[in-house]
Amino acid sequence: MSSAAEAIKHAERQCIHNGAKLTLKRKTILLGLLQTGKAMTAYELSDYCKQELGEPMPPMSVYRILEFLESQQLVHKLKLANRFVACIHIACNHEHATPQFLICFNCYQVTEISIKESTIKQLHKSVTTAGYTLVSPQIEMNCLCADCSDTKKH
Ligand SMILES: [Zn+2]
Ligand SMILES: [Zn+2]
Ligand SMILES: [Zn+2]
Repeated sequence: MSSAAEAIKHAERQCIHNGAKLTLKRKTILLGLLQTGKAMTAYELSDYCKQELGEPMPPMSVYRILEFLESQQLVHKLKLANRFVACIHIACNHEHATPQFLICFNCYQVTEISIKESTIKQLHKSVTTAGYTLVSPQIEMNCLCADCSDTKKH
């Protein structure tokens, strides 16, 4: 079984556990994100759904579904890029830490990483010292992935 199919099975179980349902449309969007491994916009997902399901799916519906998937911790919203990405921990049993993302600005490949809790605490302290209130410690880093930096070199 592919890892995407496995993640979908876990996602289905998790939704049932939370008293929700992973409907066909919700499943299609999650699968689209799992298969590309990239951060996608609601518009790209709308096109993908149209292809997969053979019926138009307006971006507003896609946004609603993404909100649901986010509430189930199955996808993450990358606020700076205004794109969405599948969580890499769908099939994991451990507690989800604050996610940090490496985002390739060239091809939108995304890697979800965990940084040390102490680093986040330190960051939090700097924010407070500056007189700001930290709303979300999620960090989105502007990067160039290995594939893209290779192409740039040649
Ligand atoms: Zn995650
Ligand atoms: Zn994990
Ligand atoms: Zn790239």
